[in-house]
Amino acid sequence: MHSDHFDGVDLFPKATVWIQKDEFNHYTREVKPPSGKAAPTEPDDVAALVKLNKEGRVRLVDGDAKEILPGSDGFTSEGKHTFASQYVGR
Ligand SMILES: [Zn+2]
Repeated sequence: MHSDHFDGVDLFPKATVWIQKDEFNHYTREVKPPSGKAAPTEPDDVAALVKLNKEGRVRLVDGDAKEILPGSDGFTSEGKHTFASQYVGR
């Protein structure tokens, strides 16, 4: 959900967003984490994600090595670039 990855999603009006469930929950929850730190993303991007979800255009991927489309799997990584980073591979 960093803006350098998510911002611009509005340029793809027919796209479906595949995002890790933990990533979605982390950046859309209304309650701040116990640390009190704000999630490092843009409020406009979070609002856009919530809107896409209400439109049925978000698919939540729950965990590592999950098939999201035939031949394409969503993987988590140890790098944790964002809260629950995901990349796609085979
Ligand atoms: Zn980033």
